[in-house]
Amino acid sequence: MRAVFLDRDGVINPLIYHKDVGIIDSPFTLAQFRVLARVPQAIRRFNNLGLAVVIVSNQPGIAKGHFGRDLLEKFDRKLRATLKPFGARIDATYYCLHHPEAVVNELRQRCQCRKPGIGLLTAAACDLGLSLSESYMVGDGITDVEAGTRAGCRTVFVGRWKCEICQFIHPHGLHPTFLAKDLWQASRVIQSDLHASAVA
Ligand SMILES: [Mg+2]
Ligand SMILES: [Zn+2]
Repeated sequence: MRAVFLDRDGVINPLIYHKDVGIIDSPFTLAQFRVLARVPQAIRRFNNLGLAVVIVSNQPGIAKGHFGRDLLEKFDRKLRATLKPFGARIDATYYCLHHPEAVVNELRQRCQCRKPGIGLLTAAACDLGLSLSESYMVGDGITDVEAGTRAGCRTVFVGRWKCEICQFIHPHGLHPTFLAKDLWQASRVIQSDLHASAVA
């Protein structure tokens, strides 16, 4: 089975400017978690294309002490509730909760799952029986492109800036397979690519 792996922050929900600490980061409260425009329709398209929709996301917020353990589950519930009226669904969610400088002891580690590591993708592939070489990784960060490429997936970089930050990608010269303005456009790009490979 093929999958589309989705990064979460910046792809499904917007990043948040946290004025009090002066950083742009994941949402830290349920009210800050909202779903970006046309994300439900994009996910429904992936569902209809027969792709498993799998969230793969670094979420070090618990490790850094930004929020408690129950919040990620509340985000997931809010996302599912938002998708449901559109007939769209997420098939599985894999989070890396670790961080090398975590303030929470048991989460302080250098793991294999934190992107650009590929642990989340390989775990999902193993659990769900996915073919990584026929799957897609969609994200707005260079670590998403790096992880997707290392795992053998095609990659879609989501952003409005023509991948300006791709100059910082490792190894140098690596590029995403496709660029898209948002998840909706990414879903169209992937649909075309699936059709092209079916014809070829
Ligand atoms: Mg992101
Ligand atoms: Zn991890």
